[in-house]
Amino acid sequence: MSIADNISSVKAEIEKAAKLCGRDVTEIKLVAVTKTKPVQMLKEACLCNVTDFGENKPQEIVAKYPEVENENITWHLIGNLQKNKVRHIIDKVSLIHSVDSYELAVEINKRAAAICKVQDILIQVNISGEESKSGISPVDAEKLCRQISELENVRIKGLMTISVKGNDYEGNFKIFSRLKELSLKIKELAINNVYMDELSMGMTHDFQEAIAAGATIVRVGTAIFGERDYNNVN
Ligand SMILES: *Cc1c(COP(=O)(O)O)cnc(C)c1O
Repeated sequence: MSIADNISSVKAEIEKAAKLCGRDVTEIKLVAVTKTKPVQMLKEACLCNVTDFGENKPQEIVAKYPEVENENITWHLIGNLQKNKVRHIIDKVSLIHSVDSYELAVEINKRAAAICKVQDILIQVNISGEESKSGISPVDAEKLCRQISELENVRIKGLMTISVKGNDYEGNFKIFSRLKELSLKIKELAINNVYMDELSMGMTHDFQEAIAAGATIVRVGTAIFGERDYNNVN
């Protein structure tokens, strides 16, 4: 299967999942996750009208960015972001999915202000409570949103989560539904400068249940670009 074929079938599955729960497919954005994959593959996806790309390492965005500057690309940082890396990507990314501390938001705010930008971010929530996962706990999410809302060059657009590996459909659906509930709860608070329009959830193995639970952004890598070989990564 070619990348073009894979993209067609992922798009078809997204459409099917949306239909199944009576949602409009245009509400759901596909972010193609290119981590560990060469720029050539990214360019192939561009030819299939994919515009949104996600990387989980800042240095991979920095490396790929100049090679695709002529493409119409919107970059998403979806993985752990250290404060000292923010300045390298602040001028390149449209959405940072993985903010889980006030300190990180302060650094993003500072770097965004320096280039006169308002940086859109999502708050990453650890719904499953797995210790290995980054993300703020659901009970602390409201407080974090309130703190970050004071920062002028950062705008919270919604929430993001990662489900548990190996979960079945029901298990994933439960986790994603809890993120949706949390976003509704925060939305009701009507905090100034906090928007709860986006829910980034669902990957190759669980985007159907994420869409059923209300995802507006799905992050799909393997189903488009194939299995990753981490031995190739420096
Ligand atoms: C790698 C990654 C994805 C994509 O995972 P696949 O299973 O390959 O679709 C999505 N979200 C995050 C945060 C990731 O790190």
